[in-house]
Amino acid sequence: MSSTKWVYLFEEGTSDMRGLLGGKGANLAEMTRIGLPVPPGFTITTEACNAYLASGSDFPEGTLDQAFAALQKLEAATGKKFGDKANPLLVSVRSGAAISMPGMMDTILNLGLNDESVLGLAELTGDERFAYDCYRRFIQMFSNVVLDIEHAHFDEVVEKHKRKLSLIFDYEIPAKELQEIISEYKVIVKQAKGFEFPQDVKEQLLMAIKAVFDSWNNQRAIVYRKINKIDDSLGTAVNVQCMAFGNMGQDCGTGVAFTRNPSTGEKELYGEFLVNAQGEDVVAGIRTPMPISKLKEELPGVYQQFVETCQNLENHYRDLQDIEFTVEKGRLFMLQTRNGKRTARASVRVAVEMVNEGLITKEEALLRVDAEQINQLLHRQIDPGVKLEPIAVGLPASPGAASGKVVFDADLAEKAGQNGEKVVLVRAETTPDDIHGIVYAQGVLTSRGGMTSHAAVVARGMGKPCVCGCEAVKIDVNNGCFSVNDIVVKDGDIITIDGATGRVMLGEVPMIEPTLSDDFEKLLQWADETKTLTVRANADTPVDAARAREFGAEGIGLCRTEHMFMAQERLPIVQEMIMAENREDREKALAGLLPFQRDDFYGILKAMAPYPVTIRLLDPPLHEFLPDRESLLLEIAEMKHQHADEKLLLEKEELLKKIHSLSEANPMLGHRGCRLGLTYPEIYRMQARAIFEAILLLKNEGIKTEAEIELPLIMDITELSMLKAEILDVYEEFKKDTGAELEFAVGTMLELPRACLVTDELATEAEFFSFGTNDLTQTTFGFSRDDAEGKFIPVYIEKKIIKDNPFAVLDRKGVGSLMRMAVEKARKTREGVLMGICGEHGGEPSSIEFCHLLGLNYVSCSPYRIPVARLAAAQARLKNK
Ligand code: ADP
Ligand code: MG
Ligand code: MG
Repeated sequence: MSSTKWVYLFEEGTSDMRGLLGGKGANLAEMTRIGLPVPPGFTITTEACNAYLASGSDFPEGTLDQAFAALQKLEAATGKKFGDKANPLLVSVRSGAAISMPGMMDTILNLGLNDESVLGLAELTGDERFAYDCYRRFIQMFSNVVLDIEHAHFDEVVEKHKRKLSLIFDYEIPAKELQEIISEYKVIVKQAKGFEFPQDVKEQLLMAIKAVFDSWNNQRAIVYRKINKIDDSLGTAVNVQCMAFGNMGQDCGTGVAFTRNPSTGEKELYGEFLVNAQGEDVVAGIRTPMPISKLKEELPGVYQQFVETCQNLENHYRDLQDIEFTVEKGRLFMLQTRNGKRTARASVRVAVEMVNEGLITKEEALLRVDAEQINQLLHRQIDPGVKLEPIAVGLPASPGAASGKVVFDADLAEKAGQNGEKVVLVRAETTPDDIHGIVYAQGVLTSRGGMTSHAAVVARGMGKPCVCGCEAVKIDVNNGCFSVNDIVVKDGDIITIDGATGRVMLGEVPMIEPTLSDDFEKLLQWADETKTLTVRANADTPVDAARAREFGAEGIGLCRTEHMFMAQERLPIVQEMIMAENREDREKALAGLLPFQRDDFYGILKAMAPYPVTIRLLDPPLHEFLPDRESLLLEIAEMKHQHADEKLLLEKEELLKKIHSLSEANPMLGHRGCRLGLTYPEIYRMQARAIFEAILLLKNEGIKTEAEIELPLIMDITELSMLKAEILDVYEEFKKDTGAELEFAVGTMLELPRACLVTDELATEAEFFSFGTNDLTQTTFGFSRDDAEGKFIPVYIEKKIIKDNPFAVLDRKGVGSLMRMAVEKARKTREGVLMGICGEHGGEPSSIEFCHLLGLNYVSCSPYRIPVARLAAAQARLKNK
């Protein structure tokens, strides 16, 4: 006999056991432990699930004995007997993994009913209708989850009978009719499977437990785990629990509630309740439920008890709770609690308010808010100054505004989204099977379902705008359109939805960039007090620099100068410079660029003063500034055809020759960066001069600056020494011309493996370093980013060769090792030398944590990511104290 304990009664568990019991099981145990009204039950562990799945669907030894022993305890507690004709015990069989995966795996209710026990249930409750309703639901759920028969077959039968009797709601169907429905259900099962619907209740239970374990690997659960990066090896627990009946009449019902508003974070009980209903009726969008506040009028006693219970739960868990409950004949039963998913806005507000209420500490608040998620707060909103003409108003289910083409199908939404089109998914309601479409849509509009419907919950989690329960929208999928009164909106027409107010508009609507709330500012202020990393921005213009400062940047970690070369009035000068035959002509052209560059540097240094600005000298290969080869060829052909002016034609042909001579087999590894600076020193000399002139102008205005002149793509000390000497030579000239003394630093990017290996030498000259982890990742992996991301990285992730896209999440093992070595060697030569990171990794929470661990001085990221980076930097510190 195996001595492993595979089964735990609710009384035996605690909330700390979520790894073993799953989140649902652990919290049911915890609620039981603190004396809340939870129907008795037991949990079969995730370990049992994993052993079962590993063995190819055999229960590990002892599981079933332990489960049936636990079932006997439930019988003893309730005085009912499983499968009994007169007084049957009915249970739910519910899945529950360590990490909540709402709606992804299946639950079966009313298990334990068969042709005989249904009679007992009817007799015992004096309610035939109720008993047959339970039985019909059970057959349908069991057939769907265990026997894999589609719901649609059963729904059709119910609809047919409702039509026959002209009924609107399921709960109006009388007992007699339900009996007929059940007979037809059984025929469906027989036809689909070739065997009768199982009457043996023990067999029912075993099949259900197996099905729940198996559902760990159903398609939508796999997709959900992939999207949310949940480990496939966790497994799910199974909870077997006595039923509470919300479908026994008008003093019954089922509901879901959040202890605070999960959309705004406001401290108010928030949720929905459906009278005379069971299980997921409330979220399935079958009937539109009533707001929880209505329960106060309908069942005041229960409402009072519920409010107190919610308060207790929140105080106990010290976090916003998402609760499922059922009322059976005026008695409250708690069926689930978990930390509620919430919008970024709510997350920030709840965290800050809980600190103010003394419920949690500032540190806890900082750790509670998902750094990646707060990116949503920086999303666009509809311009409040614009007068809108909504065609319909639904429920404001997930904030943010979105415009896009109307699409009615999740597959099409996915396809369009992948092609870079903006679409809004419009559906009667969504199910877990639509999840891939939601991922690729800008937003979701549904005509049915409440604030806790599938569409609403999923959209909030993804930070997508969602309007749901918009009943005025009549969808006609067959004709590819929806209508609102006499307005018809066709497939492909553009609409705008506002998830903050529920409004739906035709066409596009002006939007505005977001502003930060007081709570958000407060949280970020706490983050600043906590973090040790400085957060800088990547910004190329004074406007970007100003925005970055508003978001809290303390410097610029990367100012790219090539964008300045691209601007309209400058490109011809740049091209002239490239076309020049000799240094003299090149210098002439460069002299024309100098005033532009000086103004650029003046503007950006001023916008950031007194914080540091890292100015990177020209980096991309020169061909990027010339026209595209194919179009030039066409142009020349056209000119010849038109017998164009000889001189013009000659110029074009010269240009083409130049393009040929500059063309490279692999430009990423080609003639760029400091290699340009070394072959054409006059380019960097001009840039250095422009920087010095800008600093002097500002100095004369009394503005203090901190310019860091950065050399790109260095791999050797000699490159660095030579270029630094050029810059210092320009400075000597400048001093002679102006008599001014300036402060500035010269340093380098670290973006090639060789550079990381020789920072001890580089540090003899470099006064600062900045990791360019995009190129460093390309060169360390030998991946060209543009080719890799489109072609094989998704496959590598799928095959689990790599866990994340290394261009999004810094590869600690490989690239990270180079960085660590670079930091150690550099600081050995030059103690405490300034080191930072620029590039996208600088705005990604896990990469930021790694930079913190490496002891870098700063991270630098795009202006909109700065709040994310500030919070992530604080979290990195707190997690690694
Ligand atoms: P999910 O993980 O998708 O929320 P659940 O296991 O919580 O699935 O169950 C689905 C529905 O059935 C929920 O509405 C839940 O409240 C309800 N339910 C589960 N067990 C019981 C029970 N013992 N009595 C009444 N309703 C139940
Ligand atoms: Mg479920
Ligand atoms: Mg649930």
